[in-house]
Amino acid sequence: MSAARLLLLSYLLFKEAHAQPGSFWHITDLHLDRTYNLTDAPELVCASSNKRPAANAGKFGDYVCDSSWHLINSTVYAMKAILPDPDFIVWTGDNTPHVPDEDLGDEEVLNIISNLTHIIKQVFPRTKVYSALGNHDYHPKSQLPARPNHIYNQTAAMWQDWLDPESQETFKRGGYYTEKLLSRTGFRMLVLNTNLYSDHNNLTVGMDDPAGQFLWADRVLSEAADNKEKVYVIGHIPPGFFEKKRGKPWFTPEFNQKYLDLIQKHHSVILGQFFGHHHTDSFRMFYSAEDSPIGTMFLSPGVTPWKTTLPGVVDGANNPGIRVFEYDPQTLLVKDVVTHYLNLTYANVARGRWEKEYRLTESFRVPDASPASMHQVLELIANNHRYLQKYYEFNSVSYDRTECNRDCRVDHVCAARQVDFNRYESCLKIEGAAAIYGGSLSVLSVAVGVVLASR
Ligand SMILES: [Zn+2]
Ligand SMILES: [Zn+2]
Repeated sequence: MSAARLLLLSYLLFKEAHAQPGSFWHITDLHLDRTYNLTDAPELVCASSNKRPAANAGKFGDYVCDSSWHLINSTVYAMKAILPDPDFIVWTGDNTPHVPDEDLGDEEVLNIISNLTHIIKQVFPRTKVYSALGNHDYHPKSQLPARPNHIYNQTAAMWQDWLDPESQETFKRGGYYTEKLLSRTGFRMLVLNTNLYSDHNNLTVGMDDPAGQFLWADRVLSEAADNKEKVYVIGHIPPGFFEKKRGKPWFTPEFNQKYLDLIQKHHSVILGQFFGHHHTDSFRMFYSAEDSPIGTMFLSPGVTPWKTTLPGVVDGANNPGIRVFEYDPQTLLVKDVVTHYLNLTYANVARGRWEKEYRLTESFRVPDASPASMHQVLELIANNHRYLQKYYEFNSVSYDRTECNRDCRVDHVCAARQVDFNRYESCLKIEGAAAIYGGSLSVLSVAVGVVLASR
């Protein structure tokens, strides 16, 4: 072969390698319930139903229960069948069932994390996993301490193949760590323990910076900028509000503000944030002071179908969902998001068939999943009912197909648009008013009727 041909061939190979998008799995909220069993008494099928009858229980589970082992197994093998060789796996916590603290305990929590770690390692033995703690990965739940403890130590030991020595150290100290992404220079993963910022966590109340995580993250991100690195941030509990319940935040106001400040300060190196906890499929936008989109947090749906008991949420179950993120390996720009799911009803009566639910760029007609494109998606949802309805059905992983009405629209749009507490409140007012006065005359007359009737 001539030198020119060799050069051409290596150029083509180089181009081929670099044109291929990278891809990774994101799984979250597996919530294994080891009590799941198919008895004849529907209220005794699983402890996590809390006596609600599991009317359609089958081996894949029931919508009032957390995941059966069969569902977990099916999920991990579905991942293997759909994308057997991902660049890495992001796993954002919540592994134990929704049961009273008295029914768990340190050892049971650790056993469940160990079971799940084991099956992921068994099916993906050569894949790097970045794993964050959820509020259910501790006993008592949500009380994750800002200091070293037995559970952080034991979990660090379980995950030692995935953690380098420095990560082991910070994980044991506060449940957080950072690593080079795929051991490559220029790319970094930041794994946060945002359970420290939860308004349910009694151990961090009044603290300025629990476990020094904000200071540490600020330093890691500043160094990343100095070293021209690109960063992904992962964690469990997101800032901002729950889109299925108006005015329901997860962080305290102080910690919410600090998180927002951190992202706004370092947005130029952060190419994506990947979180869980909601069990729903949604996203959060981050804007600059000039209101241009500077970042997106992707909220991936849960594997557990468990219908939430949160007061005010009507029928808050979901189908089990998992997702593949496609990204540009040179820039870490998120190119696309493909969600796969199991229709639980169909799985129980026929067979466990995991299917593609949707591809972001196809369903919302955007070129990629960059902050600018996600802003476009949000505007579509906010202004076009067809897209709102599509988004709404995806939100519960095609479980709830009821109409997303005016209130529903305001809740979802404002939660996605405003992570800031005050701006969220203003959004509710603006969008609520727009919904009443900006609609058709019939909408206006219905609104007037409601106002009159409520007096
Ligand atoms: Zn959860
Ligand atoms: Zn959670």
